[in-house]
Amino acid sequence: MIYCPVCKSPDIFPVAGGYVGQVYLCKSCRYRGSFVLEADEDENAELKEK
Ligand SMILES: [Zn+2]
Repeated sequence: MIYCPVCKSPDIFPVAGGYVGQVYLCKSCRYRGSFVLEADEDENAELKEK
């Protein structure tokens, strides 16, 4: 999962980056840039029975 670094919205998605590399665009605040917050979802890995 990725989040917008400006408004913390998960409503951000990659767009065609061109020569500068991957660029993301936030639908909530119109932020556009290559930096995003990333959160792992490994905390859901506790579904194993003991
Ligand atoms: Zn945003």
